[in-house]
Amino acid sequence: MPELPDLEAYRAFFNRRIPDVAINEVTVRIPIVVRVPKDDFISTLTGNVFGEVERRGKFILFSLRSGDYLAIHPMLTGRLQYRQPQEKRRPKTCFVLALNNGHELRYFDERRMGKIYIVKQGDFASLSLFADLGPEPLSDEFTEEAFREHLRHFRGQIKSVIRTDSLVAAIGNAYADEILFAAGIHPYRKRIELPPEAEVRLYQAIRSVLGEAAAIVADRVENEGLPVDEYRDHLKVHRRGGQPCPKCGSPITEITSNQRITSFCRHCQK
Ligand SMILES: [Zn+2]
Repeated sequence: MPELPDLEAYRAFFNRRIPDVAINEVTVRIPIVVRVPKDDFISTLTGNVFGEVERRGKFILFSLRSGDYLAIHPMLTGRLQYRQPQEKRRPKTCFVLALNNGHELRYFDERRMGKIYIVKQGDFASLSLFADLGPEPLSDEFTEEAFREHLRHFRGQIKSVIRTDSLVAAIGNAYADEILFAAGIHPYRKRIELPPEAEVRLYQAIRSVLGEAAAIVADRVENEGLPVDEYRDHLKVHRRGGQPCPKCGSPITEITSNQRITSFCRHCQK
């Protein structure tokens, strides 16, 4: 699933390419991911012109000259492509926007779970997924004080807690593992068991892990293009079960539950 570093990189990639570019033609091949009437989707986009590309939580927001937005939540397997028309389309390509700069913006989604909306005149309050979004983790608004205050409302296992978009936006399964490794906190520890100094380490790890990863992924997207799977080679523990922990050398533990992989070091994370 694309998370903050991935989505920020995609945003920057498109921001360097599509503002002021017009959409000539819209082809919807797999309509299930489009959560507005197909005719409305096509008529809003056809002939419209892209403005700045934004991001909020796990949504990429393509602003349009009409004042509307194309909002894309890729969920687990939704991916964007920016290709020449003659390049072969992937299976499960859900829609294609033919642009007046000779490229196509394509969206494909193996599991077809993505959610695509047209947000009329930027009325984001109309989207339920938007209503409860917490602060952006790299924004000035996300302070240590505000985070710790908000954290008190959550009682469950800390990994689930930091993946909750209402506490802090855009952290998913992979970066939750990385953040907890950096903070030295066991993923199944209950939030209510965390001492104050662990809360401080957690806050600092959210900022540093996401900030560093955002820079790495942005470089790779710019140099190597948009990925089919996320660029994740820089991760230290996530999906590295059995490999030596980069801090202590003990093998990394990997547990799968509810189809979700959790990787951590039993020695370094208490
Ligand atoms: Zn370790």
